[in-house]
Amino acid sequence: MDVEVASAHMSGPYWLEDDSAVPASTRLGGIPDVEIVGAGITGCSAALALARAGRRVRVHDARGIAEGASGRNGGFALRGGAARYDVARETYGGDESRELWRRTEAALDELEEAGGDAVRRVGSLRLAADEEELEQIRGEFAALREDGFEAEWLDELPDHLSGRFLGAIHHLGDGSVQPARLVRRLASTAASEGVEFRERSRVEALDDLEAPTVVLATDGYGRGLVPELDERIWPARGQVVATEPLPERLFEIPHYARQGFDYWQQLPDGRLVAGGFRDHSIMDELTDVEETTPVIQSALESFTEDLIGRRPRITHRWAGIFGLTQDFLPLVGPVPGHDGLWVAAGYSGHGNVLGFMSGGLVADGILGREDPLLELFDPARLF
Ligand SMILES: Cc1cc2nc3c(=O)[nH]c(=O)nc-3n(C[C@H](O)[C@H](O)[C@H](O)COP(=O)(O)OP(=O)(O)OC[C@H]3O[C@@H](n4cnc5c(N)ncnc54)[C@H](O)[C@@H]3O)c2cc1C
Repeated sequence: MDVEVASAHMSGPYWLEDDSAVPASTRLGGIPDVEIVGAGITGCSAALALARAGRRVRVHDARGIAEGASGRNGGFALRGGAARYDVARETYGGDESRELWRRTEAALDELEEAGGDAVRRVGSLRLAADEEELEQIRGEFAALREDGFEAEWLDELPDHLSGRFLGAIHHLGDGSVQPARLVRRLASTAASEGVEFRERSRVEALDDLEAPTVVLATDGYGRGLVPELDERIWPARGQVVATEPLPERLFEIPHYARQGFDYWQQLPDGRLVAGGFRDHSIMDELTDVEETTPVIQSALESFTEDLIGRRPRITHRWAGIFGLTQDFLPLVGPVPGHDGLWVAAGYSGHGNVLGFMSGGLVADGILGREDPLLELFDPARLF
């Protein structure tokens, strides 16, 4: 595939074509209690939690609701953090990791309730692409079972996976989301609780905001607002393709391999959505320039061909930006040195469930509620 073909077909995120309604927003009079920058999964979740606690909330987005990473991702709703569970135990501590995994499982239940038909709890398949990865995911499986988490080990894979992959963990409670529909639904609920949404409203400087409390929910997109956060949340680009609907049904649930570098799933209408291959030009993908590139697009095309045995027609191509952190944990809590400023961002590519949960957590922090996860995610740890 050549460069021109790649860019000529860049049609944008499949998810955003969903006809789900964007809320008709209220206009708040006077100064709000809280202003939120970013109307993705995090901002909408935080807004809803704060409105339910009686706060007057205004949400700004430079684009529209769910038009950042929240409407551009792979549609995987996975428990846990961005690191493997066994690695998390070693890095963050046993109690902390157990709590994090347990709470993301609870968040998945809440997400299912809030998201309606935008969330399907079909499970996910974490595959090993080589012997080294097989050992790694065996370690993860053992650690999960040891701590009482549900998971199944698969040695025998279906024919269409067995030549390429060596084994897998089946995470039974995970899900697949239509992320744009999910976030718009959350936003609609928030609007019905009185939240004001200002779309196409870029915040150029925090001084332009009026509220005494401000939440940055900008994940990989917020550069330029707070220099200290720019140093700690690094933008990374992900690229995705969607195919025409396929007649065969091969990947009913989210599949991922190579440390999550590659991920794919088939949607109820038969389309294959596949993303990843950032490691094919890893330095180029550390950027917040939201555009597809020929090298990654052609890797994704070949991958879809390998997966189904013929070259499918690609109908959608898109890129999105997410926020990476040094320890792969998000920053959720007050920003050191900035009175009244809070952040919830940096999910390291794992933000559908974590972002939803962190929106609620940052609201809890603002409301003065304590939570062990607010300690684990405290931005001060990286300052
Ligand atoms: C290609 C790709 C695939 C991914 N796949 C998955 C996956 O399958 N599963 C998973 O869990 N996670 C995945 N992620 C990560 C996940 O999408 C994100 O972590 C999550 O959506 C972050 O949500 P958010 O609400 O915090 O930020 P976003 O949804 O990115 O929203 C931030 C918003 O802030 C707005 N904004 C920024 N600056 C300003 C400003 N100055 N003024 C006003 N508005 C501003 C932006 O316009 C944007 O809408 C993926 C990410 C990408 C890019």
